[in-house]
Amino acid sequence: MNEKEIITFSAYGGCYVIRGNGAIESAKLGAVGVIIRSLGLPVDEHPHTGSMHYEDSIQKIPAAALATKDADILSNYLKTSKVRFAYEMDCKNFPDAVSYNVIAELTGSEKPNEIITFGGHLDSWDTGEGAHDDGTGVIHCLEALRILKTLNYKPKHTLRVVFFMNEENGNKGGQTYATWSKSRGDIQIAAVESDRGGFAPRGFEIDGNEKYLNLLQSFAPIFKPYDLHIFDKGYGGVDIGPLKKSFEGIPLFGFVPDSQRYFDFHHAPSDVFESVNKRELELGCAAIGSLVYLLDKNISF
Ligand SMILES: [Zn+2]
Repeated sequence: MNEKEIITFSAYGGCYVIRGNGAIESAKLGAVGVIIRSLGLPVDEHPHTGSMHYEDSIQKIPAAALATKDADILSNYLKTSKVRFAYEMDCKNFPDAVSYNVIAELTGSEKPNEIITFGGHLDSWDTGEGAHDDGTGVIHCLEALRILKTLNYKPKHTLRVVFFMNEENGNKGGQTYATWSKSRGDIQIAAVESDRGGFAPRGFEIDGNEKYLNLLQSFAPIFKPYDLHIFDKGYGGVDIGPLKKSFEGIPLFGFVPDSQRYFDFHHAPSDVFESVNKRELELGCAAIGSLVYLLDKNISF
């Protein structure tokens, strides 16, 4: 990963193809297997794994991610000597099984059919507990709704929290939610996602038109004292992405926390409860609760 990128997600995006397409491209060149240096900035002993692809017409070869420390050792060996490398892997694909999104809402007092969705994903990549990816996103949104309920806030629109299932391995929860919501006659007017870790909040990105960008930017002074300053065009999120197809023109908001330590934990055995800072998590909950409140008060679809 390119350390010169200040936003670590850009660094990750810049080298994702190494893992995503490594097995396909290597097999085309006659490789019997592929090993990559884990995509992550820290030098540590945790392999950081994640999604990768095969093509049916191309030989499916074993693919593995080494911890950055181990990859550096292997790389040094390769410079000076002939190396023999043995894989021992026990990965399997199991058949699909039924699972569920979890949904909670405060019904709107004026426009109950108009929905503001906010959520994170319940599933996690299997090597860790998934505390930052995406336990904190789930808690952000649950807590945002709880805060508004505790304040006895009566929303205009329906505020709906969704804990999405199966983000990591095909986004079936996000797709099913979009179709289900459309089929029951909902009007989705905005969606917010938290899936970039439970770190100190820095702002929100928007995937939407100028009108909604201007609306988001009009909130910036309110957030400034809390150290949030990113209010730009950008990416919403994987789980809320399918809403764009079902509800044309819907603005998607992606919660942006500080990104510097996300890839210390992402898809690694280190992504555990203890790696979450309570105060930073609480600030994120407050930021999302505030955005949802401001959207409910000010958005016109
Ligand atoms: Zn995630």
